[in-house]
Amino acid sequence: MRETTPSPRFHDSASRDLTSGGPSAIELAENLDTLSRAQLEDIQQRNLAATVNALRQNPDVAASWPGALDLRVARDLLKLPLFSPADLQETCPPASENLVLGDASAGLVLRSSGTSGLRKMIYHSWEFSRRVSYLGSRGVRSALKPRPRRVANFLYPGELNGAFGFAQEVTELLPAMAFPMGSSALASPETPEVLRDHQVDTVICSPSAGTQLLTGDDTRELLAGVVTNFLYIGEILGESRERRLAAARPDLTVRSFSYSTSETGPIGYQCAYQRGSTHHLHEDVLVVEVIDTEAERTQPDGRVGEVVVTTLTDSGMPLLRYQIGDEGYIETEPCLCGSAARQLTLTGRVGQSMNVDSTTISRDLVMERLGTLGITDPADCQFQVVQHGPDGPRGPGFSIRLLLSDRTPTGVTAEDAIAALYGAYHMGRVFTAPSYRGLTLERVDGSAFHHTPRGKTPFFVERPAH
Ligand SMILES: [Zn+2]
Repeated sequence: MRETTPSPRFHDSASRDLTSGGPSAIELAENLDTLSRAQLEDIQQRNLAATVNALRQNPDVAASWPGALDLRVARDLLKLPLFSPADLQETCPPASENLVLGDASAGLVLRSSGTSGLRKMIYHSWEFSRRVSYLGSRGVRSALKPRPRRVANFLYPGELNGAFGFAQEVTELLPAMAFPMGSSALASPETPEVLRDHQVDTVICSPSAGTQLLTGDDTRELLAGVVTNFLYIGEILGESRERRLAAARPDLTVRSFSYSTSETGPIGYQCAYQRGSTHHLHEDVLVVEVIDTEAERTQPDGRVGEVVVTTLTDSGMPLLRYQIGDEGYIETEPCLCGSAARQLTLTGRVGQSMNVDSTTISRDLVMERLGTLGITDPADCQFQVVQHGPDGPRGPGFSIRLLLSDRTPTGVTAEDAIAALYGAYHMGRVFTAPSYRGLTLERVDGSAFHHTPRGKTPFFVERPAH
């Protein structure tokens, strides 16, 4: 461990990682924002070398990435094939332990909450898990100054979902007082009073539920001046929620808790200057690429492409050139905070689409057409496909229920929406399908959208008729 990059406290010999037979060689910066670009890339380079060294000792794992043992510098990654969620599903435990470095007898098991139906199991080492928590707390310290004192965690616990435990451990490392509420507490009428009575200053929550909690008619007054920080995680906040929060709670600081996935741990964090879906990258322990997937080349900074992440680790599951499913671009200008860590702005999920009666329609296509009606933020829309069974009044078939939040322009009718959507070739096929039963449009409070138990608000929802 070098003196220029102080190590977190868990990297002492007392907590050596027994599962990999020795202490981790992975280095972590205490504060990424104070390093020069050269210092940052030096750490990344040494962590890449430690990863390759661990792969060399585990030929079965190295075999998943032909050419991985020849990696010298980060740009050598471009020679490696991409690793897709389908690749991960095929090779992850219990199908195989060929992605796990060393002994997989101890660690943390998570399941990715992918919406595509693929069940991806991740076996993190405890050493990797501690690094995840450390990166999370490092990120929050960059986002919120002064740091939070009393933190309520409203994330979804259990079911192999790591977010709740992650928030607990980050709160411990800040250090701050933790209030482990869980997502079910959002429905409890006592919750706002608990937050007020205990002077909780920070809430960690999904964007949709957190916005509801902090701007709701019956809670806004109660929590004003008490909860002053909202840290969100799980999906993009979205411009309309951001506007609603700013209007209802101008005193509130709203930041991303962490841009993180079950597979990779934290990828990005926000500094005090960043908003929305822009994050600095944890580049000491990650290599992030934005690529043009079809042309198989790196996108120039400023151009949207697929986000591909390489995690640098010498225990647990390293992932090289993993397609996490997000799209975004690298900012061309440095951040006002002066950090040398590059900035990634997320623009959405790759290929967000749904199959409707054997026609594939994409979110981008739907939003492009709705844009002609002045509806521009995907967070304001939910496209529900309702399946009717043979017992329905008109037999089996499907109808479309288009939900628009009350933040969208008034006066848009179902006829307007059909006319706008019809203009897109694929949507025309949906409207003329024999099993199509009609489209209804409803303007509702955003809380009336369908949310998953983990707090996500999908754009496309398929559900049976009641
Ligand atoms: Zn910054």
